[in-house]
Amino acid sequence: MAEPGAGRYAPSPSGDLHLGNLRTALLAWAFARSTGRNFVLRIDDLDRVRLGAERRQLDDLAAIGVDWDGPVVRQSEQLPYYEAAIERLTTAGLTYECYCTRKEIQKAATAPHGPIGAYPGTCRALSESERARLRAAGRPAALRLRATATEFEVNDNLHGRYRGPVDDVVLRRGDGVPAYNLAVVVDDAAQGVDQVVRGDDLLPSTPRQAYLATLLGLPVPHYAHVPLVLNPEGRRLAKRDGAVTLSDRRALGNTPEEVVTALAASLGYTATSSSELLAHFDARRLPCEPWILDVNGLLQSSRCP
Ligand code: GLU
Repeated sequence: MAEPGAGRYAPSPSGDLHLGNLRTALLAWAFARSTGRNFVLRIDDLDRVRLGAERRQLDDLAAIGVDWDGPVVRQSEQLPYYEAAIERLTTAGLTYECYCTRKEIQKAATAPHGPIGAYPGTCRALSESERARLRAAGRPAALRLRATATEFEVNDNLHGRYRGPVDDVVLRRGDGVPAYNLAVVVDDAAQGVDQVVRGDDLLPSTPRQAYLATLLGLPVPHYAHVPLVLNPEGRRLAKRDGAVTLSDRRALGNTPEEVVTALAASLGYTATSSSELLAHFDARRLPCEPWILDVNGLLQSSRCP
């Protein structure tokens, strides 16, 4: 029998999940489960790790009824896979060393034919002797993709056809750590993820990731980039907005069921548990507007027409 495919949630363990993160996780879970897929969990711990955050994130997900299949995967334990992917691209002549500092990149003009803000390609054509000189000067080298396209198109459940810039993305940072855009592509393929539901702040990175997957001969997943949760001022929900984590809500006397009820209501469902949500969940009806959350009082849900 064919594998059912999988959806996933991939938090960075940089702190506690807030209600917006929990809502996206619940949505990704319901989207996967309601379409007969597995659901896997990955911890994106290549940077920004806060001690104890992973444990609390997993506990909070379990408390709102998000369950997952198989072991939790940590990016820090997948390093050989990222190196193997980098090796394949290098063998195909699709990488080069980059000695630019962040400052130099900011100062340099945009690539002549590339998208605005793209890496200008300063190190693309360095000769071996120039490379040796920079290396001898003690400059750490990042490894970049030698992109052969400047744009790539993806299909998104909410955004339709989305075309975005592709540039010489960093594959391995100067400190030797694989870069997020590479890791995410390798991981999703290795975990059988064919459905990526995540916040729409990541939509602009998606053409790069899909392009990388294509170069590596990996399948491009289905995407659904869902709106984030905003505060009443229209800014992305953050810790400073008040009681935004599950433990904050608990301290105020809210049960996880009450939090799930509010999350479900923001998605247009009446449900007090994840299983009740799943029973009614319609994958064709994803939220297309941000959820405006006033943590001090009313939980308003913003519904699409
Ligand atoms: N770890 C990333 C984040 O928490 C998400 C990665 C992804 O969903 O592709 O922002």
